[in-house]
Amino acid sequence: MQKTEVLVIGSGLAGIIAALTAADKGAKVTIVTKTESIMSGSTPWAQGGIIYKGDNDSPEQLTSDILIAGDGASWEPAVHQLVELGPKLVKEILIDKYSVAFDYSNNNLDFTEEGAHSVRRIIHSKDQTGKAIHETIIPYLLNHPNISILTEHTVIDLLTLSHHSKNPQDIYIKPACFGAFILNNQTGKVFPIYANNTILATGGLGQIYINTTNPEESTGDGIALAYRAGARLMNLHYIQFHPTTIYSEHERFLVSESVRGEGAILINKFGHRFMENNPQKELAPRDVVARQIYEEMLNTNHPCVYLDVRHLDSKWIVERFPTINEHLLQLGIDMTKEPIPVVPAAHYSCGGVGVSLKGRTSLRRLYAVGEVSCTGVHGANRLASTSLLEALTWGWVAGNEVLQVDGDDNYFPEINEWQDGIDDIDNALIAQDWLTIKNTMWNYVGLIRTHQRLHRAHQTLRHLQNEIEDFYRKAKMSKDIIQLRNGVTTAYAVTNFAIEDRINRGSHFIKF
Ligand SMILES: Cc1cc2nc3c(=O)[nH]c(=O)nc-3n(C[C@H](O)[C@H](O)[C@H](O)COP(=O)(O)OP(=O)(O)OC[C@H]3O[C@@H](n4cnc5c(N)ncnc54)[C@H](O)[C@@H]3O)c2cc1C
Repeated sequence: MQKTEVLVIGSGLAGIIAALTAADKGAKVTIVTKTESIMSGSTPWAQGGIIYKGDNDSPEQLTSDILIAGDGASWEPAVHQLVELGPKLVKEILIDKYSVAFDYSNNNLDFTEEGAHSVRRIIHSKDQTGKAIHETIIPYLLNHPNISILTEHTVIDLLTLSHHSKNPQDIYIKPACFGAFILNNQTGKVFPIYANNTILATGGLGQIYINTTNPEESTGDGIALAYRAGARLMNLHYIQFHPTTIYSEHERFLVSESVRGEGAILINKFGHRFMENNPQKELAPRDVVARQIYEEMLNTNHPCVYLDVRHLDSKWIVERFPTINEHLLQLGIDMTKEPIPVVPAAHYSCGGVGVSLKGRTSLRRLYAVGEVSCTGVHGANRLASTSLLEALTWGWVAGNEVLQVDGDDNYFPEINEWQDGIDDIDNALIAQDWLTIKNTMWNYVGLIRTHQRLHRAHQTLRHLQNEIEDFYRKAKMSKDIIQLRNGVTTAYAVTNFAIEDRINRGSHFIKF
């Protein structure tokens, strides 16, 4: 039986910070990721940057910006923790301890601006901030004597006293998690890992939408794992849609908000600047810009709008946004000479597994950090560049908190052995089921919702979930079937949250 003190599920920023924090203080940590590379999740895709503190900035001003973006639904104690602790951890951990290569100008950190920030306070490494952070920290993780790493391992379910213990008396104990069932993607073998404490750091759920900025691993696994284990979910209907991803046949590559922060304007197919009358113009909160783009596309009967940077210095654009420029050139678009075709796409889950200021979920011995969690910081809409800061802050807090092991955290009951199914997976079923999930979510539980659309989505997904659960129970275990099962569960949960909330707020918008 494999046993670890701390089991961290996910190797994005939140997971690696939690793992390193606990391991540095002596805990034995196992980190599991379903991908081949340890460098996975949304973290290496983060372009714009991470909040630090700008000139003439203050915790009060940052608090105010976050609360305004959150549209009255943020939890103030969590926002205070983020603004007080977050910038200190950026300095101590990212700048001083690991020396992440942030950009400097004139020997000072270079600050960029993004939508709904009242000052320039975001530090960045060109337009590859997440990659720079990940690449810098991962070597420390790989070489840490207290950390074991399992790549190509997919967590299937969390182990809980109520679901997995062989002892019938255990359902009378306060519910707790004591590890997870894990699939080795390569051998197909399923095995349990017992853990005193488990930290979910599985990232987002963008893949439940047909248009998303998220990488393929963002299938909402952590939400579904927590749901089945009985942990509390919160604010799941607050999905942030990024206003500007490249409109191309094959993908939705993000054009960072900092491009608008540096002066890009939005125009429609007739060249008309349609955000001009908004007080914050192109830098209004993301939900406002995304919905306006959606309306503009409908009004002009055109599949996209355009982001225009042609009035900015072309040499500077290429230096400041090398990744975006390179990507566009590969698609045959020269951003210095022509407007960039853009559409909105699902980007960030503001809700998730509800956690305390210490990252504890409602289930004992289970923590959640990063995008999978709902700390309450984002409320109904996330302020740009707060998510890396939140992942860092709660990763660090939870990494410390898991060291507080009490007597109950050492209980590991006997469990039944894993029973594998025998049916081979039909890939056509998997592909078609994903298309149904993604299209249903995009068309019915997307940027603009109606009650009729939500109810249709509810019916479709409920039926599909039953089908997939049946399919899953009979199937030989594989990463594909695990992700599909999690995707449909998460999509159904998001839809249920959207149906239950009749108040339009932030990113949740129902047209009556
Ligand atoms: C294109 C893009 C640009 C962004 N730009 C910014 C930005 O500029 N600033 C900012 O603050 N935020 C930005 N964000 C958001 C930010 O990147 C994410 O919110 C953040 O990186 C999430 O980190 P995380 O550690 O919670 O999860 P992730 O980095 O998503 O990591 C999730 C991990 O969980 C693993 N995993 C998932 N399910 C399982 C399972 N069942 N079993 C095992 N492992 C599993 C994955 O393999 C992965 O390792 C951006 C996001 C995207 C997609």
